[in-house]
Amino acid sequence: MNYDVILIRYGELALKGKNRDQFEETLLRNVRNILEDHKQVEIYRRYGRMYVQLNGENAEEVMTKLQRVFGITSLSPTIEVEQTEEAIKEGALRLFQSLEPQPRTFRVDTRRADKRFPKSSMDVSRMVGTYLLRSIEGIKVDLHQPDVNVHVEIRTEGTFISCQTLPGAGGLPVGASGKVLLLLSGGIDSPVAGWMTLKRGVRLEAIHYHSYPYTSERALQKVKDLAEQLTKWGGTVRLHVVPFTEVQTAIREHCPEEYNITIMRRFMMRIAEKVAQKRKALALATGESLGQVASQTLESMYTIENVVKIPILRPLVGMDKSEITDISRKIDTFELSILPYEDCCTIFTPKNPATRPRVELAERYEEKLDIDALVIDAVMRTEMVEITGKTKKDDIADLF
Ligand code: ATP
Ligand code: MG
Repeated sequence: MNYDVILIRYGELALKGKNRDQFEETLLRNVRNILEDHKQVEIYRRYGRMYVQLNGENAEEVMTKLQRVFGITSLSPTIEVEQTEEAIKEGALRLFQSLEPQPRTFRVDTRRADKRFPKSSMDVSRMVGTYLLRSIEGIKVDLHQPDVNVHVEIRTEGTFISCQTLPGAGGLPVGASGKVLLLLSGGIDSPVAGWMTLKRGVRLEAIHYHSYPYTSERALQKVKDLAEQLTKWGGTVRLHVVPFTEVQTAIREHCPEEYNITIMRRFMMRIAEKVAQKRKALALATGESLGQVASQTLESMYTIENVVKIPILRPLVGMDKSEITDISRKIDTFELSILPYEDCCTIFTPKNPATRPRVELAERYEEKLDIDALVIDAVMRTEMVEITGKTKKDDIADLF
């Protein structure tokens, strides 16, 4: 079927006035961005709906991309017809006949937003239903559980017929809620945490701690690939790559082994807070969940975040590992995340890490370190990589 228009519905009905305008404008911009490669499409909005006029572009491809745009509640591929009884009947028939497999039962529902049209919505539904029954053998009306719902919308901006409604990604349009800096490792959890933050309309930048040469170029590439996967849901994701070897070496030389992980994470937070300030991000986000591993205890979180003021979002805190894994499969990060490259934490993992680390002890052990110098040095040498979703591997290969 050659569809004419993809109709986009968006929700959060609670939004009013200025918020609603901003929501709509941000959504429009994001839809434009994601369809950038489809040069023929025209995108416009009218009366609380958005329309993508295909002008010959492939409906399936366009819809697949639109299903990744947060803020959209559902979409329908539609044909647009003239606002006459004849055109509506013919259009409905043409669309119905194109369906595979041929449905056996149907219902018609009509919404007449343009009251200038002379027939009531009930009458239009009846007219179309009768026409379909007369034209196609063996089909029946079923108002309760039809194989297909033929939906007719008569609006001032056009008359649209569709038989299909696909779910959108929900949430809020990315960019509507400010910016967050995500601590992105190569694991399963943090990309999911990033996705959940994006879903609430947040623009994302990511920070990754890299311990070259203890961690390889390929481990870093994996993180870039994960960031790139996230761009499919939220435009550009800037990735800040922090050289972390010096910090880790200093910790290993001067601090007791069982506090290495705690102190290392305190440094991650300090560095992230500085980068967030520079990039005007108002919060950090991590993939931590409570009790998932020995180090993710409340005591540990308390001691780690004690060194920063910036809020830390932990969108996975209420989730089980299986729920997190389900999402990571859905958003196509799972296969990347399970690639077996080393990461900076695993390399420096002590035999018996403290599971209930205490602030006073961490502070005492850190006295041997020049904290400010280590932090400033790492921040200064941090490199920013722009991940646009179209980045070629060669462009970002030689960072070190
Ligand atoms: P993940 O699956 O996200 O790696 P995890 O279950 O392995 O999480 P931890 O290793 O305890 O958990 O890490 C907790 C969080 O700390 C991660 O979710 C991530 O946000 C952050 N983090 C850990 N290592 C790094 C790193 N090398 N660079 C950036 N952030 C990191
Ligand atoms: Mg990890």
